[in-house]
Amino acid sequence: MNEYKVLLFYKYAKVEDPDAFMKEHLDFCKSSNITGRVFVAKEGINGTVSGKFSDIEKYKTNLRSYPQFADIIFKEDDEEKPAHSKMHVRVKKEIVNSSLTETSLENGGKRLAPEQLFEFYESGKDFVIVDARNWYESKIGRFKGAITPPMETFRDWKNVVEGLKEYKDKTVVTYCTGGIRCEKASAYMVEQGFKDVYQLDGGIVTYAKKFPDTYWEGSIWVFDERYIVEPNTKPEYKNIADCVFCGKPTSYYINCHNLDCDKILICCHTCKKEMDYCCSEECRNAPRKRERYYG
Ligand SMILES: [Zn+2]
Ligand SMILES: [Zn+2]
Repeated sequence: MNEYKVLLFYKYAKVEDPDAFMKEHLDFCKSSNITGRVFVAKEGINGTVSGKFSDIEKYKTNLRSYPQFADIIFKEDDEEKPAHSKMHVRVKKEIVNSSLTETSLENGGKRLAPEQLFEFYESGKDFVIVDARNWYESKIGRFKGAITPPMETFRDWKNVVEGLKEYKDKTVVTYCTGGIRCEKASAYMVEQGFKDVYQLDGGIVTYAKKFPDTYWEGSIWVFDERYIVEPNTKPEYKNIADCVFCGKPTSYYINCHNLDCDKILICCHTCKKEMDYCCSEECRNAPRKRERYYG
């Protein structure tokens, strides 16, 4: 029985006093049984929260009561349990750490609806599609034929674009989980002289919900206790990575449970249990282990 909803949302819009907003928002969430994490900055809001259906409705009404967020778009998943155990609201300088502080959102790539991307593929259009996420995210899920840069963090985007200059005159589509990173990633490409840049509107989560088992392959990395979301149902679309331990196909990952290691491991469900959620024998015997297992 799905009694919970998980929301993903962001909006670039002016927040006059992020500290005041943070306090008010945290109070509201705590009194409404909402868990999750929300980043707020003078430039906007970026968050993911969980709650029971009725509490989530209240949450949406509350956030939309702020004039600058009146038209915010929520991406929603129904779940059996909440995807967050605590509530954090943090004031940040940027709602996504980007190093693209000079980049103007007004230069953002043209918005490409999921239907249009589907059509690009179906019609055999000549285009380049670039993943604006980190290497580990694209390892377990990506669009067919996508360029998946080896980024450790989104701060590396400038270097990535440097390496894509040969595509300046081509049609380029950027994508990320919910769209937030592409707002700046695509704008930076436009500023660098790329001629025909699109950003996937609503991100992977919106596309994969509308067109499962098509051009999105694998799972979607999410930054909450679900670890991944699996939009596809057909086996040939589900798993695109190999387990680091046994080599079998998987689209799952763990962080090594030794807190002093915390390494990301692409692995299958069988091996994660056999390895006790650790990357090595050494980490298994380490003193500082994560308290809870997820997934
Ligand atoms: Zn395995
Ligand atoms: Zn380890």
